[in-house]
Formats: sequence, structure tokens, C-alpha cells
Amino acid sequence: MARSVAVVGSGPSGFYAAAAVLKQEPDARVDVLDRLPTPYGLVRGGVAPDHQKVKTVVRAFGCTAALPGFRFLGNVELGRHVTLEELQGLYDQVILAVGAPRGRTLGVPGEDLPGVHTATDFVGWYNGHPDHQDLRFDLDAHDVVVVGMGNVAMDVTRILASAPGRLDTTDITDRALQRLRHGTRRRIHVLGRRGPVQAAFTPKEAQEIAALDGVQVCARAVEAAVDPVSAAWLAEHGGRSEQANVDMVAGAVHGEHGRRRMEVWLRFLVSPVAFLGEGRLEAVRVERNTLVDRGDRIACRPTGVFEEIPCQAAFLAVGYRSVPIPGVPFDADAGIVPNDGGAVLDGSAGVPDLFVVGWAKRGPSGLIGHNRADSVAVVERMLATPVVRASSGVDPLDVLGGRTRVVTWADWERLDAHEVAAGEARGRPRVKLTDVDAMLGLLEK
Ligand code: NAP
Repeated sequence: MARSVAVVGSGPSGFYAAAAVLKQEPDARVDVLDRLPTPYGLVRGGVAPDHQKVKTVVRAFGCTAALPGFRFLGNVELGRHVTLEELQGLYDQVILAVGAPRGRTLGVPGEDLPGVHTATDFVGWYNGHPDHQDLRFDLDAHDVVVVGMGNVAMDVTRILASAPGRLDTTDITDRALQRLRHGTRRRIHVLGRRGPVQAAFTPKEAQEIAALDGVQVCARAVEAAVDPVSAAWLAEHGGRSEQANVDMVAGAVHGEHGRRRMEVWLRFLVSPVAFLGEGRLEAVRVERNTLVDRGDRIACRPTGVFEEIPCQAAFLAVGYRSVPIPGVPFDADAGIVPNDGGAVLDGSAGVPDLFVVGWAKRGPSGLIGHNRADSVAVVERMLATPVVRASSGVDPLDVLGGRTRVVTWADWERLDAHEVAAGEARGRPRVKLTDVDAMLGLLEK
């Protein structure tokens, strides 16, 4: 019998895994499940609306979906509509591609004050992810703090700093567009706990902010200066990307202040230690750091010198985290599904026929394309591993169809066409459906 595989999660790592199985074994049957009726994971719900080019990767995923062995089973949630044990009975092998859907927090006092948000929630909100549509964000803030110096921090800063009109022709939600248009934001303080050499953003993302209409990127000379430890690292290991970041930050020291619509302050060597306010956020207290060489990492060391930055909204962009799924092994410290090269472990023992790819396997790092090689390697390993318990032979659709309205690829194509048509009328790539019931309702028509 041809091999049957369930891939749980239809983001990039899931699609790359499905493609790899069908490339190696064209007669295999691969079902890609997703808890949402819509596919593509972070490509749809994470990639910024003004980065449409990045989203063209879905064309390749569409080619995979067109292969004869492929099926999409949307609106099916592992742990809710089906247990892992059941799934393993229905398929020969299961690949978890469940990503890292939540935002990390800092664990400092005041983090739960109104006005403090995770970037993950904000990104999901402006991108129309159904989980985040009921949230409210404090976009009328005069001073906004963004914690973190990665590309998510840059995305959030760019969206917050965009001039009215700039996002009108994107697929950002109407609600976000309206709320962002009416804000009174004047300053965004982006906080990095280490120095410019350790900034995690790529130069292109920072340059995009500097190029925004009416925006001045600023930095303090003392923070832009490269310390001796980082200078030594830069000379020995640094690449073009790190040097470009250092140069950009050095250039920002000389920016003219107080003349533009908005200032984006890139702050370095500061760690938030508390969010302050009476009933809502009024300031963030930061502690200054110095940098020390710990051998495998240049780490920050607190100095006991503090500063308060007044702000009315804060966004934590300090990374994503995976969440445990009932019945699925989870390493809470590492925030991943424990695995040996993608083969899932329960304690030190392997779980037969179960594999993991993407951010759930290795943690939340890397660009979309990095997931490809990772998924291919895990699939190669899976295909070389004998199946321990073969599937029952029952069609999973028969089982799952009795528990939820399974959204097929043909259904998704209808939703897609609806969104694109709604966008065309307004010069936008699409107007997203943001509510699961509305999506299912549309499919019943
Ligand atoms: P990231 O690249 O890992 O950046 C996280 C940032 O948070 C780092 O600056 C990190 O500083 C900081 N941080 C972590 N813990 C902290 C703490 N306790 N206190 C203060 N700061 C802390 O993660 P990300 O921005 O979430 O992005 C995830 C992945 O998606 C990355 O690979 C990114 O490149 C990719 N991505 C790409 C794009 C794009 O290409 N446009 C857009 C979005 C995301 P340290 O370095 O000191 O740890």
C-alpha cells in the first residue's frame, strides 16, 4: 500500500515537508491539516502586509497542493477534533509542523499593564488572523516602545511608523488600517539589550524604516559606538550584514531631531526591568548593560544604572514560543517538541512514526526559505525509517468529517477567490476574511 502521511500545520515547514514526501514517493498520500480554514501559517498571518513579494512563495505551495497525492484538511485542530493517538492510527506517519504561535514575554513587573502587548498579537491582528481580531491596541500613544532588535521588531516599527495611505494598497485588515491612520504616534523607541553588532534585524528591514516618508531614524552616539569586545568579534567573525547594521546605526547618530512627523530611536544596551503606571502603562524602566564575552556568546551584564522612558504603548518583539498540544511531547524549557533530528522523543525514547519540522522542531529562528532544507532532511529520515504501526486504512476524511466542517483545498480556493475579488475592487491584493464562522458560512452558500 502507498504510504500515508499526515502533516499537521500548513505553514512553510509543513508545505515543504509535504512537497518532499511527494517528490520522493509520488504515489504517497499526504494530508496537510490546519486548525484554520486557511493555509500558509505565518506567510498569511505573520509576513507583513507591505511585504507582498515575500508572500509569492505560496505559488510554490500551490504547485504542491495540485499534486495528485495531496489533500488539505482545514479547520481540523489536533488535540481538539482529533488526538495524536487517533491520528497515528489513521496514517502511517505523522509530521508535526505546528510552529511557534505565541509571543515570548520578559517576566518583569508590570508586563500585564494595559498598554503592554506582544508583537505576535499585534502582527496577528493587523494580518487578519482570526485568533487576534478581538484585541485592542493603544495606537493613540505619543511614545511607543518596541522591545527587541529582530525583524519582527522592525516589522512592527515600520507598520506603526508608516504614513497614512502607505498601507492602503496592501492586504492589511480594514480595522487595522483605520486604527493606524488615526494614531498620534510621534516617537518609537526600539530597545536592544545588546549593541548594534548584535542587532538581529537584517539591513534591508532597517533601511526600509529609514526610507519611510516623514520618519527620522535616530541613535545615541554612546550606544552606537562599537565596544572593544564586539569590535574584536566583528573583525574576526562579522559579515556584511553586521557591518551594514553598524554603519546604519552610526549614520543615525547624525540625524536631525525634532523636524519630522516621527522619530524612530534605535536604543542599545538597555534591558527593560519594569513596566510602570497607575492602572495603565506610563513608562518603561530600563537598566543599562555592558557587554562581556562568554565564549560562545557576547552577553549583556547589567550595570545598576537605570533610566525611565515615558511611553503609552509597548510591544514585546522578543521572539515566538511554541505551545504544548495535549498528548504531544513538549520541552517547556526549550519551547519545542523534543526530537532527535526531527524524530520525536518522549523522554529519551523515540515516539514511533512521529516527526517534527520547522520552528516546533528547532525553535523560532530563520527566514521562510530556511525551513525547506530542514523539512527535506527530516522527511528523508522519515522515509528511511520503517513504519512501526501502519494506518488502519480508514479514510481520515470519513472520521474527521463527522467532527468538524473539514475545509478542502477546493473550499480554500473559493475563499481565496472571494478575498482576491474583494481586493480587486479596491486596488488591493485581497481583503482577508478574518472570522472562521464567516469563512464557513461563505462555503455553505
Ligand atoms: P529574533 O530575530 O530572534 O529577535 C529577537 C530579539 O529579541 C533579539 O534582538 C533579542 O536580543 C531580543 N530579546 C530576546 N530576549 C530578550 C530579553 N529577555 N530582553 C530583551 N531583548 C530580548 O526573533 P524575531 O524578531 O521574532 O524573528 C523570528 C525569525 O523570523 C527571525 O529569524 C527573523 O529574521 C524572521 N523574520 C524575518 C522577517 C523578514 O525577513 N522581514 C520578518 C519577521 C521575522 P538578543 O539578540 O540579545 O537575544
